[in-house]
Amino acid sequence: MNAFTSPPSPRPARGDLRPALRLLLGVDGIEATLLLHPVDNDQFEVIEAWPRTEEIGHHIRVNPELLQCPDQDASKVRLPLTFTVAMNGRPARVLTAPVAGTEMVLIALCSRAGAHMGDHVVAGASLLASLADQGAQSTSARLAETKIESIVRSLAVPFVFIDAEASNAFINQGGRALLGLAPAETNPQKIAKALAAMIGAKEKNTSNASVSGDHEAAATFYISHGARTFKADTRWVADGLSGRICTFYDITEERRMEEELRQLATTDHLTGALNRRAFELTFRSELERTRRHGLPLSLILIDLDHFKSINDTYGHPAGDFVLRGVADRIHASLRDSDRLGRLGGEEFGILLPNTDIHNGMEMADRMRRVIGDTPFAVGPGLNVTASAGITCVRNDQDEAEAMTKRADDALYAAKQGGRNRVIEGP
Ligand code: GH3
Ligand code: MG
Ligand code: MG
Repeated sequence: MNAFTSPPSPRPARGDLRPALRLLLGVDGIEATLLLHPVDNDQFEVIEAWPRTEEIGHHIRVNPELLQCPDQDASKVRLPLTFTVAMNGRPARVLTAPVAGTEMVLIALCSRAGAHMGDHVVAGASLLASLADQGAQSTSARLAETKIESIVRSLAVPFVFIDAEASNAFINQGGRALLGLAPAETNPQKIAKALAAMIGAKEKNTSNASVSGDHEAAATFYISHGARTFKADTRWVADGLSGRICTFYDITEERRMEEELRQLATTDHLTGALNRRAFELTFRSELERTRRHGLPLSLILIDLDHFKSINDTYGHPAGDFVLRGVADRIHASLRDSDRLGRLGGEEFGILLPNTDIHNGMEMADRMRRVIGDTPFAVGPGLNVTASAGITCVRNDQDEAEAMTKRADDALYAAKQGGRNRVIEGP
């Protein structure tokens, strides 16, 4: 029984064991109880005492004889002063019982000899043993909690755990910041409420359970927080602690790259207009929408006049400059819902949703003028004209290919007719 050679047994928190000591008082002449814990060799510390709690913390030397012989006539052993003090005088008997599973020793001081005192003290010691065991368990639970907390704290991603009753929560600073909680917030109910407010509304739109519902539910949400986007994975765990775990991954960069890729895949680099493929896809979906809502849709095809000679005269870079300028001028005259695509070298397509042929003609002519009326800053200034063909959706059987053919035929007619003009499709 040496505290330095064996690992110290966990000591229960002060006060935890006192009720067991109190139970023994008055039983068969037991007048005082002390609970000792070894300090070194025959040195002990009084870690609990009743009724004389002032003895707690005293170090006393207990001779081995007393511990080996659990029922002693007090007059036959040399007792520490503290025992005498605990009794307000010399006790008649001293009983000892080891507390199983710990290094503690229970000592009862009696004013007289009783028939069953020994049994009572042994029963008291076994009660103390089970209380100490529970204490040790809660101590190790506390240790485990501390470990979980430090792991959660050091997680790089925002993390929240809330148990099923919202009476325990683990959260790190990233989690608090994301949920809009104060940096020191530990109140599980406040944390649960903030989490529910953030993900609850989104959950209503999914087949998954609510925050307090189905314990098997796992779900993924996308959450905007300031300029950042988070992917939230939430799931219920019922492994020891039952509750909800939420992990948040910052996918802002991922989203930005996706958007960049999408842009690259759908945009013409030179002019920023939609590329041919993206324009065709847009055309099909606009046509679908048009059919559903019974609204008109106009298509304009624009081709620059004698563009080859611009390249030939001023060089290819100057031609590129003009192409960019043309796209900018067209863009500037479009509404938000209109779409511009670069379909080939110097040919553009424009989709005008909710626009009939009359308004479409007006728009096309305006574009012809914004291109042709103002010179481009190439060399001394250069006027570039454009020809356009236009058509409008005719009925709900009309197809993208048929519309494109009509607009193309009209464009050809505009070229044939002398260029720098708009012609309506046949
Ligand atoms: P038309 O009035 O009949 O349309 O005559 P055009 O010269 O515009 O027609 P054509 O189709 O013969 O010539 C188109 C020219 O556009 C040929 C090509 O050099 C030029 N081109 C095509 N793509 C680009 C480009 O990306 N940059 C530049 N600078 N020129 C281009
Ligand atoms: Mg041309
Ligand atoms: Mg052309």
